[in-house]
Amino acid sequence: MAGSLFSMVLKQLDIATKNLNLDENIHTILKHPERELTVAIPVKMDDGHVEVFTGHRVQYSSIRGPCKGGIRYHPDVSLDEVKSLAAWMTWKCAVMNIPYGGAKGGIKCDPFKMSKDEIQRMTRRYTVMIMPILGPKRDIPAPDVNTGAETMGWIMDTISMFEGRTVLDIVTGKPIGLGGSLGRREATGRGVMLVTLETMKKLGYDISNTTVVVQGFGNVGSVAANLLHEAGCKIIGVSDVSGGFYNPKGLDLASINKHVSVSKNHLLEGYKGDAETVSNEELLLLDADVLIPAALENQITKENASKLKAKIIAEGANGPTTPEADKILRDKGVTLVPDILANAGGVVVSYFEWVQDIQAFFWDVDEVNKNLKRIMGKGFDEVWSFSKDKKVDMRTGAYMLAIDRVAKALKQRGIFP
Ligand code: NAD
Repeated sequence: MAGSLFSMVLKQLDIATKNLNLDENIHTILKHPERELTVAIPVKMDDGHVEVFTGHRVQYSSIRGPCKGGIRYHPDVSLDEVKSLAAWMTWKCAVMNIPYGGAKGGIKCDPFKMSKDEIQRMTRRYTVMIMPILGPKRDIPAPDVNTGAETMGWIMDTISMFEGRTVLDIVTGKPIGLGGSLGRREATGRGVMLVTLETMKKLGYDISNTTVVVQGFGNVGSVAANLLHEAGCKIIGVSDVSGGFYNPKGLDLASINKHVSVSKNHLLEGYKGDAETVSNEELLLLDADVLIPAALENQITKENASKLKAKIIAEGANGPTTPEADKILRDKGVTLVPDILANAGGVVVSYFEWVQDIQAFFWDVDEVNKNLKRIMGKGFDEVWSFSKDKKVDMRTGAYMLAIDRVAKALKQRGIFP
């Protein structure tokens, strides 16, 4: 599955460049990541034996600014996946008009089978291995699947030890006491909530009558579910890697939150509240107005797209919908808010964190959320009107807007030498 991800990236790029009538030379350049680094990461495990993990860092583009993108720990991590995610980061920063290029990193590992000490040693060694290409003005990592504030703190500390000074602006998504930004942890889910509400407003939905299903109850999915619930929507289904729960009358999110706060690996498994169990496949097909895929890529495919009942899809995850499924959904009249817009809240607040670190002046959470709302709202409006104007779906519109910005910057800079 992961092997085909970059061909999906190229297909999306082809469509956008054709619609934009873009210079073929620019198209050719944009098909290639600027830099790919693969590293071996030897780690002494707790029992004394050594495991060698494979890690990657791909800098897709620095045309519009320093490279920016998360680091993922997952057994399915591959160079193909990291490269694809790095390309999406490039388009995401461009569509939100923040001054970054795009990058991504990852280690092929199963963090659930490792101790915290092993993960820390792996993180520090990986950091040193990719350090030659990192830098606050070069490439600034952030969290992604199975990494978080603690991981970012270790990365910051490792680089600081080598530099002989504290380097706060080398990584975002750090703990608050270590130069992190208030509101960063919730930012991606908050952004998903904001674009979902904007879409509902455009389509004339009444919030209190709107039902929502969320796949993935991690950082992005749980925050999106909780904030949409607070906004008045009815959350009728949620799931994670262990399976899902469904109640057509609305789930009791407070008791679900309580359960995952103490359950093993914070999974939904074992939840005993008022809900039926459903598989992840069944969850996607539930009868709800809004579907938020917030787990991994390739979840909505040509096999299940025609059976989906949701009228709005807001992509919390990166790449959850295949191009074949996209076409089926478009033909069905589903409004799909694409990943590069819907889940951009994280990188927007990462940008705020970087700005705060550089200025050594920290904002309160209202300031963060106010600016996030402003930038997400502007990004949404631009993509919405551009897509209407060009008579294309929102994904194509978002890609066209983003790729046009990158292409213009490339033209202005010229091709070195
Ligand atoms: P996370 O690790 O906190 O959560 C991932 C969730 O998905 C977990 O609940 C996990 O159990 C679930 N999951 C994993 N495999 C699954 C499967 N096969 N079926 C159903 N559920 C499954 O990660 P996250 O940070 O919430 O990221 C989720 C998605 O959002 C990823 O695609 C990530 O790239 C994207 N994203 C994250 C951020 C961010 O700031 N964290 C920003 C932009 C995009």
